[in-house]
Amino acid sequence: MANKEYLLIPGPTPVSDEVYDALGRETMGHTDPRFAKIYKNAIEMTKELFNTDAEAYVISGSGTLAMEMAIVNTVSKGERLLVISHGFFGDRFIPLAKAFGIEVDVIQAEWGKQVDVKEVVNQLKQHSYKAVTVTHVDTSTGVESNIAELIPVVKRAGALFILDGVCATAALEEDLSKGYGADDAKIDVVLTGSQKAIGMPPGLAIIAFSDEAIAAREQLAEVPAYYADIQNWRKVMDTPTAYFATPPVNLIYAYECAMKIVLNEGMEARIKRHENYGTAIRRALIAYGMNPLAKEDVASPTLSCILYPEGIDDALFREKLAERGIIVAGALAHLAGKAFRIGHMGSTTPQMLEQAICHIGEVLEELGHKVTIGAALKAFREVLTVEKV
Ligand SMILES: *Cc1c(COP(=O)(O)O)cnc(C)c1O
Repeated sequence: MANKEYLLIPGPTPVSDEVYDALGRETMGHTDPRFAKIYKNAIEMTKELFNTDAEAYVISGSGTLAMEMAIVNTVSKGERLLVISHGFFGDRFIPLAKAFGIEVDVIQAEWGKQVDVKEVVNQLKQHSYKAVTVTHVDTSTGVESNIAELIPVVKRAGALFILDGVCATAALEEDLSKGYGADDAKIDVVLTGSQKAIGMPPGLAIIAFSDEAIAAREQLAEVPAYYADIQNWRKVMDTPTAYFATPPVNLIYAYECAMKIVLNEGMEARIKRHENYGTAIRRALIAYGMNPLAKEDVASPTLSCILYPEGIDDALFREKLAERGIIVAGALAHLAGKAFRIGHMGSTTPQMLEQAICHIGEVLEELGHKVTIGAALKAFREVLTVEKV
């Protein structure tokens, strides 16, 4: 890979050479039939990824735009939204929905834990909710939410289930055709950005809607949006020679390439690979005497939030790692300075993660924390093998 540094933050993530090559191809006109074919293929692959025949949208923007599209196209002013939050990104739906005059209630998990499903069941009895948002993996805590339990509960209450997959899509199962629970309840909206587990540079908002979610949009007389209104984009997604607003041609080349990589590997293999990444990296870091914020049974396959041992300075730790070409992220909100976050998703390789383990060991030593790098590597290799290059 051309990457000089290993970008092990929870997005953007390492980008493969093929994707960089695709990004650098000559820019075509945005309604050129040759480009339209690529765009159409990219949209079809998005539907395949989410296992749906309904609708998918891929447009310029970040994950937050996709969050906004999910809300404005399903919930209108004065209607109620229940936000199930597992941290910083779950909370983002609160001001977002309020900006559109939506009534918002919130259930917040303690950081590092999953929400209590009983609490959700009780809250759903208090009001009639149009939709419920859940963050699949909250990037602030490294917790994977218990969607298999939440989907049936939410759907039974008659609300739409909106899943923020920004740090999960293409690494965890997000299947719009899969039925959960006795009622075969399904996800209605799933959204992501290009720069996390898909392994592309930032710049694309990606979202899929079930037939039920599309019906909800059709029932809204108007939406308080123009660019984010899916009705304005539908004709472009169906026939990309149509124009609404100029799509990011080169990002679509890169996305088509990245999605081929994703689908060629296959979701089953990707899910397993990411599970192994999460287990391996956390076992190695635990061998250094560090503790993940989330307990292993709820810890995410895509990133980990790791608490520092006593006496490690956050800024110095990350600076010394960066000097060695390993980029990790600080923690957010009340955990800032007390933990760091390491991404292990998308095109990240076992070799990158092993390098990171070695360098983290060296830096901990430099900062006066006694560790055995060999023991951490052994723990890592019990789960993952690194191909010799
Ligand atoms: C990164 C992230 C977002 C925000 O995405 P942007 O692309 O930064 O707008 C939202 N939700 C989750 C879970 C994320 O990880």
